[in-house]
Amino acid sequence: QKCLALIQKTKFLNAYITVSEEAALKQAEASEKRYKKGQSLGDLDGIPVAVKDNFSTTGIETTCASNMLKGYVPPYNATVVQKLLDQGALLMGKTNLDEFAMGSGSTDGVFGPVKNPWSYSKQYREKRKQKPRDENDSDWLITGGSSGGSAAAVSAFTCFAALGSDTGGSTRNPAAHCGLIGFKPSYGLVSRHGLIPLVNSMDVPGILTRCVDDTAIVLGVLAGHDPKDSTTVQGPVNSFLLPSLTDVSKLCIGIPKEYLVPELSPEVRSLWSKAADLFDSEGAKVKEVSLPHTCYSIVCYHVLCTSEVASNMARFDGLEYGHRCDIDISTEAMYATTRREGFNDVVRGRILSGNFFLLKENYEDYFIKAQKVRRLIANDFVNVFNSGVDVLLTPTTLREAVPYLEFIQEDNRTRSAQDDIFTQAVNMAGLPAVNIPVALSRQGLPIGLQFIGPAFCDQQLLTVAKWFE
Ligand code: GLN
Repeated sequence: QKCLALIQKTKFLNAYITVSEEAALKQAEASEKRYKKGQSLGDLDGIPVAVKDNFSTTGIETTCASNMLKGYVPPYNATVVQKLLDQGALLMGKTNLDEFAMGSGSTDGVFGPVKNPWSYSKQYREKRKQKPRDENDSDWLITGGSSGGSAAAVSAFTCFAALGSDTGGSTRNPAAHCGLIGFKPSYGLVSRHGLIPLVNSMDVPGILTRCVDDTAIVLGVLAGHDPKDSTTVQGPVNSFLLPSLTDVSKLCIGIPKEYLVPELSPEVRSLWSKAADLFDSEGAKVKEVSLPHTCYSIVCYHVLCTSEVASNMARFDGLEYGHRCDIDISTEAMYATTRREGFNDVVRGRILSGNFFLLKENYEDYFIKAQKVRRLIANDFVNVFNSGVDVLLTPTTLREAVPYLEFIQEDNRTRSAQDDIFTQAVNMAGLPAVNIPVALSRQGLPIGLQFIGPAFCDQQLLTVAKWFE
């Protein structure tokens, strides 16, 4: 009830698209009964959680923040949602995002932008000489994205954990801007069944929490083979409970030199080097490493992402799900108008680019070439980890959260690409990575750093993250 009250109180953040109050209260009641009887469903019994609105939920509208899916009520739960519920979690609602998770700001969804709770922190307001809680002014900060609703929901204490999705940084980026842990698991560790796809070969469900131990608990619930997702790995999954690491002196921390880009803000840069010094002073080996194909990662991501988008979005034709326009002159006209009305410019732009890259005459030069470059990018990581590096330490974002009005002035297409420079390569390589909040900037806003680990070393990665947090 406290969480529900907070959801109401922080409505102006626009974190939730749907609040599933009735269901949550019923689940809470059942959980309380179990508690009184001394029975427990599992690791999350009675714990309020929120889920990004691109995960299917039985009986609860699932919109992807798009006109195309408004009104669509799935007949099944995504595997991860079912697993949360099976462990007793209380589903508070579905969180806001960029339309179909395409973006890095949570500003582009059809339900409007998400506001960063830190816009209203005392320290930030004082620095900006603003009244402490003026909810109506326009000078608020973006959450980052695309899982900004999930980040705002956790950051505003309306739930303890939230699911995001991460295709190129969408969980880690808003975690960095909202001062949270944002974890992207290894590709194949957590089922994508029921996560409405953006880029099938890169998408993973992500976890947002306030501490690393909470992430490990949720990961323990979600991880494992799913017969409904053939890309999940077979075999037993170990517990993800984290040991208390007291000695990091045996670790080797890699600092990729290509990540020192000119656009990196001086404050993030200085915190990054302070973090490296901290490991060094504890006896860990800190060494500069090279990921030589980093410079191709944004264009490579763009070709692969839009190509998969073009193919994925073909299912939204006005026949099966959600929106259908009123035009009935011909089937083609119905498709075209439905899609024009249903998708925003970002989605339509990506469908167009993707279809261009997939044209017979372009396929070899773009799509196939990008696949090859993707392999080189992934191999860069493999080589570094084979050289004895345990984890990589990098920035998560170029800078702290920016004001909304500033963000929307930048060019829509280039801004998302730049913002994801430290996160996208990880998805192309399928590796686990996590944002850890490090400090507040001079403005009083959170700054995070990212740890990246070898594939399927999720537990080791989180153990280092826990030591550092
Ligand atoms: N910003 C990236 C994009 O728009 C990543 C999005 C994501 O991870 N869902 O493609």
